Amino acid sequence: MEGGKGGRYPFSHSLYIRDGGGFLVDAGSDPAEIDRLRRENGLKAVVMTHYHEDHFTYLSSLPDVSVWASAGDAPALESLETLLAWYAVLGTEWEAFYRNLFTEKFPFSPRKIARRISDGETLRLGRTRAIAVLAPGHSPGHLCLHFPDEGILFLGDYDLAEFGPWYGDAPCDIESFRRSARRLASIGAATHIVSHEGPVHNGPIASMVEEYLSVIDRREEALREFLREPRTRGEIIARGLIYGPKRDKPWARYGEWALLSKHLEAMIARGEASFIDGAYTLTR
Ligand SMILES: [Zn+2]
Repeated sequence: MEGGKGGRYPFSHSLYIRDGGGFLVDAGSDPAEIDRLRRENGLKAVVMTHYHEDHFTYLSSLPDVSVWASAGDAPALESLETLLAWYAVLGTEWEAFYRNLFTEKFPFSPRKIARRISDGETLRLGRTRAIAVLAPGHSPGHLCLHFPDEGILFLGDYDLAEFGPWYGDAPCDIESFRRSARRLASIGAATHIVSHEGPVHNGPIASMVEEYLSVIDRREEALREFLREPRTRGEIIARGLIYGPKRDKPWARYGEWALLSKHLEAMIARGEASFIDGAYTLTR
């Protein structure tokens, strides 16, 4: 089920499995289509790949439907405070923006997760089998679904899009994103479906995944270049290395720091950067 705007944010593509009374994977695509399928064929559960707002958009309009999610991501779907904590915005200049976003634009309503899914578990959706592949990195328990009998792997937000990967949530990091993306490619499904932009990729994706991951290296290279002189958090955000310096909306500034702070953490851990007197700088 294709999301609006070609599946670009604030939309995302959904899957609908007719079998077994109807299962929807993610709820950020198309409310009219979700409603039609529900009336015609039913809706037994919504399976959430993860807790990001562009995937739960229409979930609040299905209050009586059971929600399934990975054990890792369930807490953020069950509580607004956890959601905000995992967006790493509590106590920052972006907290009010995100509180408002999750009340007004993407109406978040906490949901008790009826089924907590673990890695490798087989979901039986009628006669259709879906194997849960948990891919931490984009979110701590990002759920991908492998349909072995159909040769389909739903990659969710391992979306292979030109913008590159998102690994900016508090419980996430760059290395787990890389590992998960390569693991997904190694499953070797015939068909891959993603949550954003062109939904279907036929054939192997190993080289696409490497191209996608190379965006991470380019971001880090740009950051290293900028840190030849000591730079404060504010200077790093304002430079706009990822979204461009002219993007001064809260979401862009937030995104800039969410992603680059993961690079800084890793660079400091490897001894390649330091944080002294309120400024980050390269050490080698
Ligand atoms: Zn996401």
